Amino acid sequence: MKKSALITGITGQDGAYLAQLLLSKGYQVFGLARRSSTSELNLSRLQWLGIANDIEILDGDLSDLSSLMRAYKTANPSEIYNLAAQSFVATSWSQPLLTANVTAVGVANMLEALLTCCPGARFYQASSSEMYGLIREPRQTEQTPFYPRSPYAVAKLYGHWITVNYRESHNLFATSGILFNHESPLRGIEFVTRKITDGVARIKLGLQDKLSLGNLDAKRDWGHARDYTRAMWMMLQQDVADDYVIATGITTSVRDFCQSAFAHVGLNYENHVVTDPRFLRPAEVDVLLGDSTKAHQILGWHPEISLNEMISEMVEADLKRLSNKGA
Ligand code: NAP
Ligand code: GDP
Repeated sequence: MKKSALITGITGQDGAYLAQLLLSKGYQVFGLARRSSTSELNLSRLQWLGIANDIEILDGDLSDLSSLMRAYKTANPSEIYNLAAQSFVATSWSQPLLTANVTAVGVANMLEALLTCCPGARFYQASSSEMYGLIREPRQTEQTPFYPRSPYAVAKLYGHWITVNYRESHNLFATSGILFNHESPLRGIEFVTRKITDGVARIKLGLQDKLSLGNLDAKRDWGHARDYTRAMWMMLQQDVADDYVIATGITTSVRDFCQSAFAHVGLNYENHVVTDPRFLRPAEVDVLLGDSTKAHQILGWHPEISLNEMISEMVEADLKRLSNKGA
């Protein structure tokens, strides 16, 4: 019998790559998506990967428990990946309550539906390195204490602990993946990496001359979404549920990311990047650097795509997208 999986956040970056991976492994894939007034669901990422017609979309919202229960009953999944969230840190200051409702309480809704409808299914929660915030150790592991620095990170911390708590209280197979930043050509345009590669492409094509950014000194441990969604699947194939840090072990500043992305098209970032205080945050996460030793040892997971390969792929994809638009 075909294994079936339910992915929330199917219209997002990770939902698309994970769906592609699961389809390639023979799963029947269901994706939860919420209604929008633009009537056509935004399946552009799934279309980009050529898999939009291979997924069964179910209507639902993380803040509506009954819609989740209905989706679980229809999909009858053996694996559930909870990737849906208000996922943009900057927005979490302007919409803190929505962020709490979806990114925090939404996880409790997912777990309650799991307990009620299919307690035998395996559950993955998309936790985040943002939970480390004001870092307590130079390299963050599963044991490093958390210190969230945004309403988003506080909400994710609830999502993480409620997942651990349901595992321990109800004996569910509930796993929390603490993933460091991961990017791709399908990354949302508001995140700094995609904002940069899109800006590089626009400047190269003569569509604009300047790129406004915030804190260039912030450092992130950036990996590729394709590698990271593979780690999610690996976590659910284990005999016991546990929590894992997924990271590359290399940290890079926004400035150095700019330097590499502009250099890819033969430009000097210093001639184009300007700083704008509008993009600074009320509280910053200065640096993140993950230690994935546990994932290496237990899952056998290693990242396969380097930062430079990813930057090239992202810049090339943005050049192609913008050239096609102009054509
Ligand atoms: P993303 O591209 O922003 O996708 C978020 C998804 O959540 C979208 O499909 C969105 O649907 C959906 N969503 C938002 N609110 C919802 C609601 N109320 N009900 C149902 N669905 C809702 O995020 P991503 O980069 O793929 O990340 C996936 C998950 O991993 C997120 O939980 C994120 O916080 C977490 N995470 C990401 C990273 C990273 O670096 N990418 C790192 C650590 C953790 P719409 O299309 O309708 O908006
Ligand atoms: P985050 O780690 O989830 O907040 O991912 P982002 O890609 O949104 O931000 C990563 C880092 O880049 C943060 O420290 C931001 O302050 C910094 N950054 C600098 N300029 C910008 C900008 O213009 N947009 C965004 N999104 N982040 C920026």
